[in-house]
This record gives sequence, structure tokens and C-alpha cells, in this order.
Amino acid sequence: MSQVSTLNKETQIPYHESHLFKLRHSAAHLMAQAITELYPGCKLSIGPAIENGFYYDIEFSEAIKEEDLSRIEKRMKELAKLDQPITCKKAVSRDDAKNIILKECTLGQGEETAIYKLELLDAIPEGDAITFYEQSRTDRKGEKHHFIDLCRGPHVSSTKQIKHFKLMSIAGAYWRGNVKNKQLTRIYGTAFETAEELEHYLYVLEEAKKRDHRILGKELGLFMFSKNIGSGLPLWLPKGTAIREALTDFLKKEQIRRGYQGVITPHLASSKLFEKSGHLITYKDKMFPFMEDDDDQAFIMKPMNCPFHIEIYASQMRSYRELPLRLAEFGTVYRFEQSGELAGILRARSFTQDDAHLFVTPAQLEEEFLGVVELTMGVLKKLGLTDFRARVGTRDPDDSKYVGSDENWELAQKSIEYACQKIGMNYEVSQGDAAFYGPKLDLIIKDALGREWQMGTVQVDYNLPDRFQLEYIGEDGLPHRPIMIHRAPFGSLERMIGLLTEHYSGAFPFWMAPVQIAVIPIADRHIEYAEKIAHELNSYRVHLDSRRETLGKKIRENQLQKVPYMLIIGDKDIEQNTVSLRSREQGDKGSMNLEELRNYLENL
Ligand SMILES: [Zn+2]
Ligand SMILES: [Zn+2]
Repeated sequence: MSQVSTLNKETQIPYHESHLFKLRHSAAHLMAQAITELYPGCKLSIGPAIENGFYYDIEFSEAIKEEDLSRIEKRMKELAKLDQPITCKKAVSRDDAKNIILKECTLGQGEETAIYKLELLDAIPEGDAITFYEQSRTDRKGEKHHFIDLCRGPHVSSTKQIKHFKLMSIAGAYWRGNVKNKQLTRIYGTAFETAEELEHYLYVLEEAKKRDHRILGKELGLFMFSKNIGSGLPLWLPKGTAIREALTDFLKKEQIRRGYQGVITPHLASSKLFEKSGHLITYKDKMFPFMEDDDDQAFIMKPMNCPFHIEIYASQMRSYRELPLRLAEFGTVYRFEQSGELAGILRARSFTQDDAHLFVTPAQLEEEFLGVVELTMGVLKKLGLTDFRARVGTRDPDDSKYVGSDENWELAQKSIEYACQKIGMNYEVSQGDAAFYGPKLDLIIKDALGREWQMGTVQVDYNLPDRFQLEYIGEDGLPHRPIMIHRAPFGSLERMIGLLTEHYSGAFPFWMAPVQIAVIPIADRHIEYAEKIAHELNSYRVHLDSRRETLGKKIRENQLQKVPYMLIIGDKDIEQNTVSLRSREQGDKGSMNLEELRNYLENL
């Protein structure tokens, strides 16, 4: 998905150099050792450590199933406990290496089991060291057993260190990723340094499955896809639309408070616009193909809103008095994502950005950047996303790809750090992570499961104002070039709602819940009063559930729909002019009159 890769925070060691990486790679070897024992004649190919664990690609003579994994895992545990030292062995020559592969790697199971290893040997460049890693033991009878694999390493020093692991799944994988080659069996596993970490990882996976926004989105009736419309093109259902509107209403109010002005621009534009913006060169493979009209003009569905807002800026002569100019739009964009990369609404082909572009003078950059960061943080907090860190992407001083003057870069980088310090936000500087056109700030959010998501980028841009030759007349009466800031606190409504759905497991806070209150009459004779109550509360999103079902069933279903509050209406309520309040989290809250209920809801 879209999570950020893990860095060991204390030491800042990149993952691929960490002990955990070695441990996982060693677990891959351990798995291969177990498999060569259990499935004589299988052919090993490659077995690396990856982001969340490891895998090994193997050709089996008979297909294996997920049920077989526990048997392999059991053998791995036994082999690990034998405390086999893992040692490196260098081949003195290519012939020597070939010999080792044919004699030792095959474990007497025939030369044909070594075909992939021999191919891998051939691929090692001339002059590079050829190394093997071996784990061996001597059994009670004094007989030596070993497992040896062609491998660059490094590994942990003994199999005994591989304690906390689990085999996860089986998939098909073509040898060398080429569909023309044979399909091998890929077995995925994971390993951690402690039992707690492994347990937590498995818990998060299990929980993430339950919270998958694609499943919840369907169960809760938020959005859908239709093959008649096309993959990656979501349809927002009434309940999902209610959430979208709650979010946009909230952000619009915040933006008005901060002097933004709304604009609306079309969904397609002449290809010339994107030629001028440079997107046709840098972004072409993410854009839908051209549409031609009868004047031979080509149009493109917009992948970005920026050039449209720039046209609005450039439509008249601007004075420094008009700046900063903050143009905001909930702008729907279209990107041609590969079908294999689509992931529900987290990665779709049409989505709506909560976009804005600020046109500022150099002197305003610092304050405006601060304003944007404050707005973004305020928004994230209101959404209940309070655990985040910031990463400042600066330029690499040794690289010449960047546009804009040194002076401007200094100013912008200082402005970003100033904003972080002023707000008291922890940030790390990531040198070389800036776009070629300006430095940026990324906010990385941790969700309820501790998964990290990159959201809310604030980007400084010197390039587009140049390409479009934007100007304003300064106090000195001379033309100057403004600086642009791009920002989208949600990223996109789709991505944010996808994230929030998983973060809250569909139990949205009261203010954004699609149905905030369900009014449930117990019997038909209570409907009239229930209708009256629902009408009284019509400033909220109220659903009157007057179906002829049992009360128990109606409560259960509204609970499954994660409705924050239910109002149960029975004889006693009508008699005493009250309602019985039931909360999603706390259950029965007792009865109250309408006045008390209003106060209660307002205080939420
Ligand atoms: Zn290896
Ligand atoms: Zn933009």
C-alpha cells in the first residue's frame, strides 16, 4: 500500500543494513534448508529479505499448499534450535564455485536441482567475489549435515538467533520475473527480533484485513465500483458522499477563515497547457490519452489543477497588494494508473484533491508557509490523526538538476524549518528529497494500527511561475516573479476517506459519520412520534428506521452500520415526552427529553 518504509529511528541505519534485515535473510536460508530436507529434488532459486519479511522462490516437483507451511515451519524451528553456525565461504574461482554448487548445494539430490543457482552464478559479473553461506551441524552419530547457498550475505552468526518467525503465504512467481520463464512457487515469511514484535505485526495484519477500506466501504455503503464504468473510477454512494461533504464543509470554512478564495475549473484542457507546464514531458505516462476535436486540437483529462489556477492568476496584471493570492478548489483529476496498482479509493484513476495554490512574494513566503502548515495540522488533528512527523525535503547541493536561484532555495528551506520550529513539530531533514522545482514538507501520519501514511505535502515551486512567466508589480513599480506553494492537507478526499475508514475501522466520529443518529420506533404505534423526533433533529444526518423488524435486529444492524447514536422510542417515551439514547461505544445512556438531548449532542 502506501506506507512509508521503516527506518530504525534511534540509529538511522537504513533497513537493508540493519540486523533485522540480516535476520530475515537468514530466515530465508533456514526455510530453504528445511524445504530441501522435506522436499528432496526441489530446485532453489532466490531468497531475499524484503520490506516486511522474506521469501524464497522454489521449483517443487509437486505443488505445495498453504497447509504445508506449518510442516515447514516446524522443521525450521527444529533446525534453528540446533544452533548451526552460519559461515561465509569464498570460492577461489568460477570453476570452484561451479563445483561447490554441483557438489554441495545440491546435497546429493542431482545436478538438475542446481539449474537456477548455475544461472545466478553466470550472472555474477567477472571480477566480483563469489561467496557461499553455509549452516552446518554434526548429529549424534557424528555425521555432518550442512546446507550451503550461493549468496552475497550478510547473515546472522547462528541459526539459533532466528527465533520469532512465521511463514505467511504462497504465491506464484516467474523465474527472473519474466512470464516466458517457468513459474516457481514463492513462499513468504516474516521474522522479528522479539516475540512481541512478531505478535504485534501479526495482530496489525489481522486487524488491517478487518479494517480494509474496500471491505468496509462496501459493508457501510460508502462507495462502489462498476465494471460498466471502469476500474479505478469510484462511484460515491449517499453515505460516502455525506462523509465527503462533512470533510469539504469543514475545510472550506477553515480556508475562508484564512483568506482562501474558491475557484472551479474544467476537467479537461488543451494539450498545449500541459506542454507549457511541462507535464507532457515529465508526467505523460500518468495521463489519459489525448482526445482530438475536429480542428485538430488535442485535449487531455487533467492530471493536476495547478496550470488552471496559474491561468487564473495570469489573466490580469497583479500588484503586490493582491498577494498573497490563495486559490482553492476541490478539483477532480484523472491519472492513468496501471490496473495492477489500483487499490480501492486509496489509489484510483479519478480522485478529488483538496487543492490550493498560493502565489506569494519572497517576503511573504515564511508567513504563508507557516499558515499552510498550521492549517494542515489543524485539519489533521480535527480528523483525529494526531500522531505524525514531518520530513523536510531539501536539495542536494552537489546536484545541478534544480531550478531557481540559490538565494531562493535558501529562503524556502529556511521558511519550512521556521514553520516546523514555530509550531513545535518534530521534523527530519532529508537532503536530496526536494523536487527539482522546490523544497517541500511531507507530513507522515501514524494510524490507529501504527502504520505510516504519507499525507499532506506542502510544496514550494519556482518552476511553474517561470514557465508561465508569472509576474506582479512590486512596491518599486517593477515586475517581479511570485513564488507558488502547492498544498493539499487531505491529499485527496478519496485517499483521506480510505485512510480514515481504516483508522476508525468504519466507526467515524460523530461529526463525520454518514448517519449520525438512527431513530428506532419499537412498534408501529411509535412511528408518528419517532417521525416528529427525527424532524426536530433535522440539522443532523438522521435515519428513521421504521422497518417492521424486531427491536433487537434493528439495534444490531445500526450497530453494524456503526451509527454513533440510536434513539429508541417506546410507550414510555411517548408518555413522558422523552427518547432513550443508546451510544455506539457506551451502550444504553438512559432517557432524556429533547432539550437535554440537543445539549448532549452539541457538546460532542
Ligand atoms: Zn542468501
Ligand atoms: Zn499544484
